[in-house]
Amino acid sequence: MPPQELIKWDKAHLWHPFTQMQDWCAPDHEPLMIMSGKGSTLRDQHGREYLDGNSTIWTNIHGHCHPQIMAAISYQLKQIDHVSALGFTNEPAIRLARALVELWPPETLTRVFFTDDGSTAIECAMKMALQFRQQTGEPDRTGFLAFDHGYHGDTLGAASLGGVPVFRDRFRQLGLPVRFVSGAAALRDIPVSESDALTAVVIEPLIQGAAGMRTWPSGMLGELRSWCDERGVFLVADEVMTGFGRTGKMFACEHEQVVPDFLCLAKGLTGGTMPLAATLTTERVFAAFLGRYDELRTFFYGHSYTGHPVGCAAALANLAIFNEGRILEQLQPKIALMAELLTALRATHPKHIEDVRQCGFIAGIDIVQAAGQPFPWEQQTGVRICLAARRHGLLTRPVRDTLVLMPPLCFTADELRQAVAAISAAIREVLAPQ
Ligand SMILES: *Cc1c(COP(=O)(O)O)cnc(C)c1O
Repeated sequence: MPPQELIKWDKAHLWHPFTQMQDWCAPDHEPLMIMSGKGSTLRDQHGREYLDGNSTIWTNIHGHCHPQIMAAISYQLKQIDHVSALGFTNEPAIRLARALVELWPPETLTRVFFTDDGSTAIECAMKMALQFRQQTGEPDRTGFLAFDHGYHGDTLGAASLGGVPVFRDRFRQLGLPVRFVSGAAALRDIPVSESDALTAVVIEPLIQGAAGMRTWPSGMLGELRSWCDERGVFLVADEVMTGFGRTGKMFACEHEQVVPDFLCLAKGLTGGTMPLAATLTTERVFAAFLGRYDELRTFFYGHSYTGHPVGCAAALANLAIFNEGRILEQLQPKIALMAELLTALRATHPKHIEDVRQCGFIAGIDIVQAAGQPFPWEQQTGVRICLAARRHGLLTRPVRDTLVLMPPLCFTADELRQAVAAISAAIREVLAPQ
């Protein structure tokens, strides 16, 4: 079928996420249809090639259609397509649960509950944290604490933990009781009488993604862990974006030797190939759900595709690539190169780049009119720069006027140079046209 025809059908029937569909469906908008991908490169309906500068919205890890992951998926599909986790089990899910647990110190995070995406991994942690309190004599601990500008997904529960007002406020009155704070310092001001009403704190460790790649001060996560221990509040680490090497270590929590009470994983879990998520927790939490059937301590939660064998097989291959390819070791010089290139980029555009933040292989570049003067948000400056970068062979998507560079870990030094050059050319074209 000709791409033009398919695009007509898209505009007639699809509803895209976080998208003003009036703009999308406008006659002069030609959506990109990604037809194929290999490694860091994506190809559209016209055969044009692009570097995947944001890892296909923060998911891809080792490049597209990695042969080892593709082989694991096809092998698994020849065995069994799906197995319900309600009453049955399957080999990839069992092996993956063990492999995930083994990424943490012994006897810390020992239990794995599978769901389908980041939002449901968060929902699962929230419900576990609430039901745990009901079953351990603290039923009044029903509150959550979250951070300003945080993002934890779009289902109602996860969205009520979000600190980005445009996403949250519309549905706020329906959400759960959530207290928001700006950072670790503000925690000290919370009286014990109030923290006694909390079941858990949720954080994106080291860096808040949807906030525009906002980094936390070093030591903040460790401080939060201590506060949680002192106050008897659970720590939920949302590593949906930061997991699987993005920050330079397997998990962001490792940078501060923190083990959370709940760990939420999704995006990169399958190397960015299949929807699969996991919520890890401790034996202490798990034990509170054990009892006679009629005690009703069962965790009443699940999804049709919980523990999907094909997703789990893909995730096992993702982890095998990390080990066999010494991916984290090879990433370190690329992280250093990214820092060098970003410093040079900033020096090239001193007027329009207000700040550059990097955390491992994740970068956010803030674009302004002039020092301290943001562009009016309605002008969609970040979007316009990213559209210009496309013409230079780079695909990425901004968070408002923060440009995001978050390539797959397989990016080569050359690809990194090309990507930053594309951003530089795009900034020049949009903001300082000759
Ligand atoms: C993307 C994201 C989520 C939501 O994940 P979905 O798979 O989109 O539901 C939650 N938390 C963080 C930190 C994320 O980046």
